[in-house]
Amino acid sequence: MTLTIGVDIGGTKILAGVVDETGKILDSVKVSTPENSDQTADAIAEAVRKVRGDHEIGAVGLGAAGFIDADRATVLFAPNVSWVNEPLKTRIEERIGLPVVVENDANAAAWGEAKFGAAAGHDDVVVITVGTGIGGGLILGGSLYRGRFGIGGEPGHYRVVPDGRPCGCGNRGCFEQYASGNALVRAARERASAAPGRAKDLLALGDGTVEGIQGSHVTEAARNGDTIALAAFTEIADWLGQGMSDIAALLDPSAFVLAGGVSEAGDLLRAPAAEAYRRKLAGKGHRPYAQVLTATLGPDAGLIGAADLARV
Ligand SMILES: [Zn+2]
Repeated sequence: MTLTIGVDIGGTKILAGVVDETGKILDSVKVSTPENSDQTADAIAEAVRKVRGDHEIGAVGLGAAGFIDADRATVLFAPNVSWVNEPLKTRIEERIGLPVVVENDANAAAWGEAKFGAAAGHDDVVVITVGTGIGGGLILGGSLYRGRFGIGGEPGHYRVVPDGRPCGCGNRGCFEQYASGNALVRAARERASAAPGRAKDLLALGDGTVEGIQGSHVTEAARNGDTIALAAFTEIADWLGQGMSDIAALLDPSAFVLAGGVSEAGDLLRAPAAEAYRRKLAGKGHRPYAQVLTATLGPDAGLIGAADLARV
């Protein structure tokens, strides 16, 4: 069995693991991401050497945030680690003497979920990562779809409201402004501001102020049946359903996977999002519905996916 190493390069830590052909992690290590981006390649190489040990390794897959070129070699632009046209493949191959591929981290995580996680067995999968913002990945016809320039599969900046809420990308009305973890917190805070008397339980989970309400508080309150928290989930789930129905009109997948921090709320997010998707789908009642699933690999998805993408 061929083993490969997957590396998930995060803003604060670098996670590396030895992964077998069934997606199982045999060994893993974690090192801190250096503050100086010039030292990041050394830290990645160090993590690979540590985890490699005596394992016979065929290749290494790196998952990095940002735009990756279609040759899976260069990070075109990564705002959080201040890389522009960084030849990451070459830099790491020089240091470790193994073949390296570079993948977008969200695409790597999507591949992991589609092949070994929630959507195992499906060939046409759309993964929507609901975190602070919205990321994602597309698996079409059994292959990861990267686009001509390597930067496809990013649903977060799909415009859903003309002249809507301003977005960090410079446009207005982007999907992630309505359906992300930040949007969930915003929806809960707006409701708590409007009706502080009804928000006592939710406010008590934070510091007592509306601004103190965080995403984890909204999830906890919703689990306890808090009506304001549940309404906030319904609001972003409705937007997710809208987004999935639009994506289905274009791509007709057999499964959507909701991943990322907010998806850890499980059916609090999945069930209303699935209901909204079915309600909003064009031609509903006259076509099959895709399954709407919750991710199962958690924070390991990126590492497992990057390792597997290094094989092909
Ligand atoms: Zn945007």
